[in-house]
Amino acid sequence: MKTDPSASDICPIRSLRTRYITALLILAALSIIAFAGIEKVVSQGGEWGRIINVAGKQRMLSQRIAKEAERQDYQSLRVTLEEFEDAHAMLISGSEVDWREVDQSKTVERMFLELEVPYQAIVTAAHDLLNQDASETSLAELVSDIAQSESLYLPKMNAIVGQYEIEAKADNEMLVRIDFGVMSFTLLVLALEAFIVFEPAARKLKAQWTQSRENELRFQLAVQGSQDAIWDWDLVSNKIYYSPRWVAMFHEERLIQSDSIDAWVKLIASSEMNNFTNQMERLKLGQVDQIDIEMEMRTAKGDIVYVLCRGAGLKDKNGEVIRLAGSLADVTEQRKTSETLRELAERDGLTGLANRAFFRERVELAVSRSQSDSKFRYVVLYLDFDGFKAVNDALGHNIGDELLISISDRMSETLPASSVIARLGGDEFAILLTESSRVHATSVCDTLLESFQMPHKLESHEIVSTASIGVVLAEERYTNVDDVMRDADAAMYEAKTNGKSQAQFFDLDMHKKAVKRLSVENKLHIADIQQDFKLLYQPLVNLDTGEPEGVEALVRWNVGNSECVNPDVFIPIAEEIGVIQKLGTWILYESGRTLRAWDRELGHSNTIMHVNVSKRQILHPGFISILQEFQIEFPDLHGRIVLEITESAVIDTRANVISLMETIRAMGFPLAMDDFGTGHSSLSCLHQFPLDVLKIDRSFIINLESNREFTAVYHSIVTLAQNFGLSIVAEGLETDGQLAQLQSMGCMFGQGYYFAKPLEKDDALRFLQGGTQTKMAA
Ligand code: C2E
Ligand code: CA
Ligand code: CA
Repeated sequence: MKTDPSASDICPIRSLRTRYITALLILAALSIIAFAGIEKVVSQGGEWGRIINVAGKQRMLSQRIAKEAERQDYQSLRVTLEEFEDAHAMLISGSEVDWREVDQSKTVERMFLELEVPYQAIVTAAHDLLNQDASETSLAELVSDIAQSESLYLPKMNAIVGQYEIEAKADNEMLVRIDFGVMSFTLLVLALEAFIVFEPAARKLKAQWTQSRENELRFQLAVQGSQDAIWDWDLVSNKIYYSPRWVAMFHEERLIQSDSIDAWVKLIASSEMNNFTNQMERLKLGQVDQIDIEMEMRTAKGDIVYVLCRGAGLKDKNGEVIRLAGSLADVTEQRKTSETLRELAERDGLTGLANRAFFRERVELAVSRSQSDSKFRYVVLYLDFDGFKAVNDALGHNIGDELLISISDRMSETLPASSVIARLGGDEFAILLTESSRVHATSVCDTLLESFQMPHKLESHEIVSTASIGVVLAEERYTNVDDVMRDADAAMYEAKTNGKSQAQFFDLDMHKKAVKRLSVENKLHIADIQQDFKLLYQPLVNLDTGEPEGVEALVRWNVGNSECVNPDVFIPIAEEIGVIQKLGTWILYESGRTLRAWDRELGHSNTIMHVNVSKRQILHPGFISILQEFQIEFPDLHGRIVLEITESAVIDTRANVISLMETIRAMGFPLAMDDFGTGHSSLSCLHQFPLDVLKIDRSFIINLESNREFTAVYHSIVTLAQNFGLSIVAEGLETDGQLAQLQSMGCMFGQGYYFAKPLEKDDALRFLQGGTQTKMAA
């Protein structure tokens, strides 16, 4: 296991070692010097000892010479003299003492020199004596000379021995002192070394050891506990450590035994290699402090593992990167999840086509590409399928879903692979064709429309669902996706109003319409409601009796020059620009005034007045008080003003609207759900809404005669609604056949051109006075 010695941690050990060695060298040198000194003293002392021994012998020999000369024992004298001379020669040259270099200050040595005179006298006299060439007198003289010289020699020799003892003692004391000095000095150096060098260094080392031990433990725990694979690359030795987790991650036993980077590199997907080596290199060179790479790797078995590789570099005190270490986290699961999420974010869950957000993104790209590349053409198709809602209601949501899937499959089969097909929501689809032209787009639309003519086989049903297609061709003026989609939508709308199952290319007429809309908006702002608006009244007829039940008030706007703007056009604009409150209030009061006038004319108060209220109107905070004031003004109309709210308005803001609806209804305004079947409410939810009347949309009635399925559905709506206690009004009743079918179903009321178009006030009164009986009879 690797510890974590940083560059600065290495220094104290080295410096400690250096100091230690230096101290040892100093000590060794001191010891050598000291011992050399001692050795010298000792050896000198040894030398002196030998000399003194000889000196003692000389003393004894000189005495013997004197006695043997006196006794004239020449034979012994000869031997003794020889011995005396040999010993002296030894004293002079037999030792390492060179008398000429002798330290004259030393007493013993000086005294030896002084001994030379009596010695020579003794030796000369003794030789003369032995030569026997002397007379009796000179013989006696020689003996006396020897005795005399000997008496000089002996005390000198005695003195030498005495002096030696003194000096030897002094030398010993010196030796002891030197010895003691060296010892003390050594101890002092050791103590200093200990206190100045070893102690702090040891303390530091201990601290470092503890620290690194802790680090090591921590590292071990981290490695063991970590779900990540750890790597640690010593760049100096070029050895890399792999934690055991690598084996589990890559099923590669050999990894943990390896200390080479190659073992790792082998597992990296080739597509990632460049990036990996680049990043590692930058880390090595210290260009970055850390790296964070998500990359693809392979296990030994060949499975793909996505890892997040993190690493950091460690620098020495010179700023050189010496180590890299980091971890690998297995992010395969996260990667899969995020891919799924991205898929989900881009795909429509039901059909698997692109969704709205993704489609807009692609159109945005196409728009910006066409701006920079004038040759690049794109086409956007906007599709709305007819009758999908009816299928949903008639055959259930499952079949509805299957129809959508079948439609999208058909589109995918028909369209070029390069096109982007998206479901924008509900039954609205869009297609982006790239590298396309008007001719190409026309043929694509023809193929699509033709393919939609073929019935979809869903379980036991065969359903035809045609589409209205709006087409937008790339144009320079498009700078964003919103404009493109707006025009595609406008073209689609045009296709729908022109009779469905067709494609319509967006043109400037449509654009002109949009411009017109703007002018409508402007005119609406300045319109004088009482002057410019009027109400028409379309009768509602009891299908059983043929009697008019009442009327629906439908607003008309006279813009001047006998030009009339349709409510379908201006009501949404009035809502948008906030005119609807004022207008709506006027419509309510105008309806009230008309009904009151008719009551007088008719002589009864049975007539019902349906008044349309828009979503914005209901949600306006002042709406309830307007109704209250109306009731105060028209108490005679209580319970006879039926407010019509469109299905989509009810559904969109259900939570808000339901409680409002309850309040309104409790106040005495019966409520009708308008255009039922165009929104997304289902029959089963109907009872949740506080309603009195259900108006089934005209688009629904159109299929009645042609499709048996729809007849069944219509029937079930009627039955169910009646079970909930609702009155049913069939909107858009135009034909005898429709009337007959509605009657057979037991549908209570009808409204449509069959009875009357929306009528002027006086015409409507005449109708109420008995104008329909003829029609029903016919
Ligand atoms: P709506 O409430 O569904 O009104 C029925 C529309 O269908 C009327 O169009 C009517 O003229 C038309 N219609 C009736 N019978 C038939 C038929 O047999 N065949 C055909 N093809 N059409 C028929 P209009 O008057 O143009 O009104 C359009 C829409 O404008 C209304 O739809 C309603 O949503 C809105 N609107 C009309 N008047 C008012 C109003 O006073 N206030 C509000 N808020 N909206 C209004
Ligand atoms: Ca209506
Ligand atoms: Ca309606």
